[in-house]
Amino acid sequence: MLGATKALAGTKMVTREEVLKALEQVVDPASGKSVAAAGMVEGLVVKNGNVGFALEVAPERGRGAEPLRKQCEEAVAALPGVLSATVVLTAHQGKAPDTPRVAAAPQPSGVAGVESIIAVASGKGGVGKSTVAVNLAIGLSQAGLKVGLLDADIYGPSVPRLLAIREKPGQAANHKLLPIEKFGIKTMSIGFLVDEDTPMIWRGPMVQSALTQMMNDVSWSPLDVLVVDMPPGTGDAQLTIAQRVPLKGAVIVSTPQDLALIDARKAIAMFEKIKVPILGLVENMSVYVCPNCGHESHIFGHGGARATATRMGAAFLGEIPLVGTIREMSDAGTPVVAQAPESAEAKAYFRVAEEVAKSLKAPLHAAPRIVLE
Ligand code: ADP
Repeated sequence: MLGATKALAGTKMVTREEVLKALEQVVDPASGKSVAAAGMVEGLVVKNGNVGFALEVAPERGRGAEPLRKQCEEAVAALPGVLSATVVLTAHQGKAPDTPRVAAAPQPSGVAGVESIIAVASGKGGVGKSTVAVNLAIGLSQAGLKVGLLDADIYGPSVPRLLAIREKPGQAANHKLLPIEKFGIKTMSIGFLVDEDTPMIWRGPMVQSALTQMMNDVSWSPLDVLVVDMPPGTGDAQLTIAQRVPLKGAVIVSTPQDLALIDARKAIAMFEKIKVPILGLVENMSVYVCPNCGHESHIFGHGGARATATRMGAAFLGEIPLVGTIREMSDAGTPVVAQAPESAEAKAYFRVAEEVAKSLKAPLHAAPRIVLE
């Protein structure tokens, strides 16, 4: 499943035509034609040296097509200007029910040198999940832990903006990508490799491969905790993360609004279904404190997340107020816990970090093995 990762290409970036040309040399033994000529290459994405596509095979071939997949990956990886090559097997819709759409799931084995992995998740976008993930990660590092932050939102990476990171990751001697270090944490995002505002059309299996690579082909070690900023929602990408790594647990972020809480409950239910413990809920945009008079108002209601947590038997990790400075500092790429650690809002994030740090001391829970249909 893993593609080969190579050095960032100097000046020249590989083109789509070059990739297809290389794939003309890979012959599918089943048809005697090249995979390109046989129309097996689907959803080809070539971006700044990162190449990914799905290899469409007849359902009955299933995992038997693995050597061919590997050959494709190697042929592409060998091209000059290729940073990473990721090929996943896929079969047409309407396939035999026993054919997995996603290639065989390896047993979750964790990431070498990483003690615990936790997910920060929400049932929907815009609730402040990424802001919590970033401030939580820095908060944990200020508590003395070695911390990594993985931006797993392939469709809308936000860590480059939240941490004002514009450089590209370098490469370690073992060919792994070096995470970028800022505010005392190591971080990696697909946004470091491709332009943040370039819309990406990725098929599900490609998203899963990219995530696996960002966990396993990045030089994270040694870390006490890797915080994974999950893509919003409860779909395949979230399932894959739980499937591939032993998540210690998940932190769910929600606003107090009922609607958001319905989504938060869906996220909780998803993690419970796949046996990933819920470390707790964070209520974001909990209370609005007027910057002029100090008056507190509850724009989105208040206490809903605490009540939901109690009802679902999950811990309540804390409330983050709705304050302009959080957004302003986020936009400036200087998270509030780093920029204004003495402020009330930074202290609110620190309290969440303390609660999470406590729960990390509990025994590690192995992620379940799930095969996606
Ligand atoms: P998500 O990851 O859930 O999509 P973000 O973390 O990107 O959400 O936050 C969405 C927007 O809300 C951002 O502009 C962010 O700066 C702002 N924001 C998040 N939390 C707060 C808060 N507590 N107070 C004020 N603004 C916030």
